[in-house]
Amino acid sequence: MAVIIQAERMWLGPGRIEQSWGIRMEHGQIQEVGPVRKLRQGRPLGGAVMDCGRSVLMPGLVNAHVHLELGWLRDRTSARGGFAHWVRDLRRHQAEEIAEVGEDKFRRSMGQAIRLGATEMLHHGITSFLDVSNSGLPGQVLPENGPRALAALECLGLSESQSAPTLTRAQAYVDAGRRGRVRPLVVPHALYSCSGNLLKGLGSLATQEGFTSIHLMESREEADLYQLGMGPLKVLVDEICPTHDILVGEDPLERLDRFLGQPASFLAVHGYALSPSQIQKLARMGASVCLCPSSRAFFLHPTIPLTDLAKSKINLCLGTDSLASAPTLSLWREMAVLHQEYPEIEPGRILAWATEGGARALGLPAGKLQTGLSADWIAVEAADVPDDELEEFLVAEEPDVRVVCVEGEILLDGRWDG
Ligand SMILES: [Zn+2]
Repeated sequence: MAVIIQAERMWLGPGRIEQSWGIRMEHGQIQEVGPVRKLRQGRPLGGAVMDCGRSVLMPGLVNAHVHLELGWLRDRTSARGGFAHWVRDLRRHQAEEIAEVGEDKFRRSMGQAIRLGATEMLHHGITSFLDVSNSGLPGQVLPENGPRALAALECLGLSESQSAPTLTRAQAYVDAGRRGRVRPLVVPHALYSCSGNLLKGLGSLATQEGFTSIHLMESREEADLYQLGMGPLKVLVDEICPTHDILVGEDPLERLDRFLGQPASFLAVHGYALSPSQIQKLARMGASVCLCPSSRAFFLHPTIPLTDLAKSKINLCLGTDSLASAPTLSLWREMAVLHQEYPEIEPGRILAWATEGGARALGLPAGKLQTGLSADWIAVEAADVPDDELEEFLVAEEPDVRVVCVEGEILLDGRWDG
């Protein structure tokens, strides 16, 4: 049955705010967008209408990069000592935890943290997300009727002997198939943590899936590893596998080309240490770049190369990264951090990165309130904020989300008379 959703205002994209507009949705899709008066014209008086009152209707947020499995580390990590040190810390924490409580109990608490994280994201208006995990556990425990989840198994291994068993596990993981709105995927962790053979195998899986994502040029340490063959990340990589095949002086994008290839849709995560020519190359590949502002600030990674990213017209999107490097799983928080650090970016553009940019990066038929797209929308509290301040309010004030709808299904309804 068709339902008309109405609210005081609607945000349709940068600078596009409409009064008393609504959506007509049916079969999980947006059938029509326009003035409520027009949507209701000629329809039965008792037809289904959902009134979201004085809130703003807008597309659901897309979190393009999260590691829900690290949720149990909330408030337990520090970036003192740099990125490589943090990676070591993470490995140590996990080993200690397993030694203390045992593997079974550890997996149970990890599962609990994953479900909590998913609920937190839902309350913050995230209707789709790409999760990346070593354990593959989110693919099993995420609710199949929650927000749309691309649940990616993250593969890594620098030793050649590891690549065959890792690829067998990866194939079995994707073969398990979709479960409701949870779709399994396989992605490489990073170019410095995967052997050439493993990248090749993952590259052919990515070609089948038409999509892949990878952590790329996140830190100064990573740039030093490739360019100079030195630094803390080089020490870590040598420690993990002394016979690895990373070549000093080889551009990471060459390594990408040589082994992983170019799937139809490619999402590079972080990219703070990318050079202008690397950004141009990614743009030519049609890649998207995901920024995680809280996590960048936590690690004191290089500043975002905004001018070069803008010049290249590369598609940008936002991610929260994990609770081991960010305080919340709210994309509103990420927008607020970005707005505070880079006040020169138009708030409307930030909103577009958190919605349309994310949907485009993940290849989803969502991210905009537009006829024919999936009915993924949210209603956000913003009563009494003037139109010309609305975008700034939304990106700066971390507003409350009242209603969340995914594929036409209302997952959260917190409307109140106020
Ligand atoms: Zn990450």
